[in-house]
Amino acid sequence: MSDMVTIILTSYNKPKLLEQSLQSVLNQTIPNWELWIMDDNSNKQTQDVIQTFLDDKRITYLNSKVKDEERYKKTRYATLINQALSLSSGKYITYLTDDTTYFSNRLQAMTEYFHENPSRNIVYGGQLLRYVDGNLNVFYESKIAAKEKLKNASNKVDHCSVMHTRQIAENVYSKYGSYWNDDPIFWHNADAEFWSRLTEIEPFYPIDGIFEIALKTPSSFQVLNRHVPDPLPNGILVRGLTKEVYLIDNQKKRLISEKWFNYFQYPTSKIIQIPDPLLFKYQTGIPINESDLPNQLVIKEDGGRNYYFIQENKKRKVPNPQVFEFYSFNQSHVPELPKKMIDSIPPGRVLSTEMTPHHLLPDGRLFSYKQELYLSQKNRLHLIDVNVALKLKFNVRDAIELKEKDFKRFKQGNPFHWEFKTY
Ligand code: UDP
Ligand code: MG
Repeated sequence: MSDMVTIILTSYNKPKLLEQSLQSVLNQTIPNWELWIMDDNSNKQTQDVIQTFLDDKRITYLNSKVKDEERYKKTRYATLINQALSLSSGKYITYLTDDTTYFSNRLQAMTEYFHENPSRNIVYGGQLLRYVDGNLNVFYESKIAAKEKLKNASNKVDHCSVMHTRQIAENVYSKYGSYWNDDPIFWHNADAEFWSRLTEIEPFYPIDGIFEIALKTPSSFQVLNRHVPDPLPNGILVRGLTKEVYLIDNQKKRLISEKWFNYFQYPTSKIIQIPDPLLFKYQTGIPINESDLPNQLVIKEDGGRNYYFIQENKKRKVPNPQVFEFYSFNQSHVPELPKKMIDSIPPGRVLSTEMTPHHLLPDGRLFSYKQELYLSQKNRLHLIDVNVALKLKFNVRDAIELKEKDFKRFKQGNPFHWEFKTY
């Protein structure tokens, strides 16, 4: 048993791909491995796939049973890896994610490398990276070769391309008090953070060859998370892996069923898919319906002439077409609501283009000033990166240009930005 490899597989809701990952472990040319399936409380379909692999005595399955609202508190896969590291016993450690498959010689090649180089503790190989669409059709692929000894491997070497000794993981533990850092700021790339802990001790040594196929799916964390600010602005439509759509309203997520989505004439093109952990971070508010209206919506009285903008649960009258135009409201998405319904909404301040000292901006409008974009929220202007604005499906070309004196009238709020952490 002394040369056993511990494979730590982290899994969340990718049943089809997981099956292939698991099969690729069974196909290994050497038998001396143990597999830890660390599942982060996936759906039933995923659990069913896992069950079909559990006859093999080398496979252990742990379900985190994490509650959805807890997901964002830790970088989940790092938490699961730490748990597996403390329970497992292999001399060598290697990682697998549910969207990656090993070539059958991977474990053999890497363990042989350690036999030939007994003083080394970290090896990494090449990878075939495939970008696939929702139907798993490949639209782009690239090969990442392992050529040189790396003193800094962060963001250069994938999670699934590495094998290291248990000894070096213990050295990391002694130094940092943990193996992987599961602080939620590392959701995007906790592997890079762990690699930087490893390379403090020893470089990554390359082994020639391509040893796995990693898929980048449209719902991968990194793809979905790109340019998504945290916190999200109010007024945007979001969904996670499942179909349910929510409005971010007063920093809560409010479910909009299909019926009310259509009733309020929301365009499906404005729905932004975000990672589940980020979505679940938001408390659930009252679902949207005829008596619990959404904010940041333009409505019209059925058969009447008046337009209103709903803000802070009040109806703010849009007094004329110039004001409607000025704020770049979209004529093609204005639901007509019964007079009775409109009468029941308390009135707020009439919208205006005159930015007097007491002016109250409509929430969730995009403004531009001196080449920068700003989003209005609670009468403040929040600087917003153009990439973030595009990701959130704002119509950047319709941003409302502000004059200097008007811009200066408003306080600025926290910027909406997104940053890729490098090490
Ligand atoms: N993951 C997890 N809990 C979650 C979401 C994801 O443990 O709530 C795991 C997932 O199984 C995978 C890893 O995190 O092993 C990375 O997820 P994904 O492949 O979606 O992201 P990316 O490849 O873009 O980093
Ligand atoms: Mg992935």
